[in-house]
This record gives sequence, C-alpha cells and structure tokens, in this order.
Amino acid sequence: MSDTVINVLNLTRKFRRTTALDDVSLDVPAGIVMGLVGGNGAGKTTLIKHLLGLLKAKAGSVRVFGLDPVRDPVGVLGRIGYLSEDRDLPNWMRVDELLNFTQAYFPNWDTSYAAQLQETFDLDPKQRVKSLSRGQTARLGLLTALAHRPPLLILDEPSSGLDAVVRRDILGAIIRTVADEGRTVLFSSHLLDEVERVADRVAMLHNGRLVLSDQLQTVLDSHSRLTLRFAEPCQTKPSLPGALSCEGSGQEWTVICNGQIDELRAAATSQGAEVVEQSRPSLDEVFVARVHHGRLSHGHREEAHS
Ligand code: ATP
Repeated sequence: MSDTVINVLNLTRKFRRTTALDDVSLDVPAGIVMGLVGGNGAGKTTLIKHLLGLLKAKAGSVRVFGLDPVRDPVGVLGRIGYLSEDRDLPNWMRVDELLNFTQAYFPNWDTSYAAQLQETFDLDPKQRVKSLSRGQTARLGLLTALAHRPPLLILDEPSSGLDAVVRRDILGAIIRTVADEGRTVLFSSHLLDEVERVADRVAMLHNGRLVLSDQLQTVLDSHSRLTLRFAEPCQTKPSLPGALSCEGSGQEWTVICNGQIDELRAAATSQGAEVVEQSRPSLDEVFVARVHHGRLSHGHREEAHS
C-alpha cells in the first residue's frame, strides 16, 4: 500500500449552478492529521462525501487506500471511521443497542476501548438515542467512529455540539492519539484555533477551490502580520504590494502578507508609515486574509459561483 491514504485529483462537482468543488487536487499521507477548513458552503462536506463513495466523481478522480470508494465500498468503508455532520444515528435504538449493532459491522471493534470512551463521554447505555442531547449525540457518533480503531478517521465538523471541555481536551487528545498510532485523521472545521492546535497539515477550501494546502507550520511560518503606523491618518485603505489583507483605520493598519516582507516594508516607508510590530499571524488570520485576497483576485470566478 502506498503512503498516500487519500488521493484526490482534479475533482470538480457541480450542483445545478453551484460549483461545490472546483478542480480540487489533494493528497493526504498516512499517519497525519489533516484539517480541512473553510466557511459555510466551501465544499468540505461534498469532498468528504466523495471520499466515502456517497457521491461519484463526475470529473476528476478519488482514491482512498488506492481504491475507488464508489466501486469498492467494502474495501474502503470498512477501514474508515466516520462522523457525519448531521450525526444521523438511528433514533429508535438505545445506546447499547447501537453499539452492538455497529460492532457487528466491524471485525476490529475494540470492546474495552468502546467501554472506556462510553465512560469518558458519560453516556448511559440504556438511554434512547432520540432522547440524547445534541452534545451527547455528538459524543455517541464519535464513539462509534472511533471504537473499531479505523486506519482512517473522517470527522465532519466534530466540534459541533460538543461542550468546551470535550472539544478542547478530549477531542484534541483523541485525534492526536489516533495519529500517534500511525493512523490518519481528516477532520473538517470552521474553528481555526482548533485546527491550529491539532492538525499537521491544513487544506483551505473557499467556494469550492483549494486556496492552500500545506504543512501547518509552513503555512504559519510563511505569513507575517505587520502593524503599520502612518504619519497622517489614511482616508482610504493603503495599497501595499504583497499584502494579502489590510485592516485598520486612521493611522494604524494591520497587514497580513505571505513572504515579500522587504518589499512591503519599503512600500510602507515610501508612503510615510513605520512598521511598529511584526509577528506571526494565527491560522484564522491567514485564512481570512487568503479568502479576502482570493475574492479580489478572482472576483469574476466568484461571481460565477454565486
Ligand atoms: P458547511 O460548513 O456550511 O457545512 P461545507 O463546506 O460542508 O459547508 P458543502 O455542504 O460541501 O459545504 O456545500 C458546498 C456547496 O454545494 C454549497 O453551496 C451547497 O449549497 C451546495 N450543495 C451541497 N450539496 C448539494 C446538493 N445535494 N444539492 C445542491 N447543492 C448542494
């Protein structure tokens, strides 16, 4: 088996006039945590549905473990633990019934790990799924995705519905443990601080396009945040070469750039500004700047998507 668990090549998906995925190519190597980020409607779930074979690639190709998930659902799905965005679990079952039912499909189901997760997630085995709170349903969905120790874990917005403690301490630890065991995690999220905490690599989708895909550390190290103070208040946004975004008012403006710092500093100085601070931006700031920049430079394409 190759070291690439997921291989997506030139995948495009249209739903009537909406281009949900636009020529997306993405490889996910084994043993890493990949954070798939993007705003509402960016195409995250559509991409995940292709990985699970729930949607057939009409343009481009999708391989998971080297297999086509539509042609070989058994070979692919048996090795995936999946938490869906809408946590669609059978409402009429009790928690213990659901666990027994799910276990039957997975020969590698780890009973003691399932019991441990049930305790960590504080789930009552006799409770009916339909009477669980949103957070409890999310925990149960996570348990069923994890307990067969899948080589590939796909979590669609796993934080949604979870309280802060589970989200911060438990979910992050689980994801890291899975990767430390040499297994692979792909999780979608619009919470970029969470992705920054646990992901090794990050892929950013915006309006169906992959705007960035790289090691998290490389993404963070290759961007800078500069705070500029102008001698006079600026009435309009300063135009600075190399700036992905520029936010502020009056004399003080914050610029996010990708490399090109010398060029940007020189342009700022020539416009009467002093660089008062330079620091590393958060992933959230990089994402917002990238999306903002993409909007300006791909204005026509984005209009076509709307
Ligand atoms: P969110 O974070 O809001 O869940 P997302 O990144 O998961 O968003 P998708 O659910 O993949 O985004 O949707 C991408 C685009 O494709 C959206 O504009 C959505 O309305 C559209 N779309 C997705 N599925 C369908 C469908 N079955 N029929 C029509 N349009 C669809």
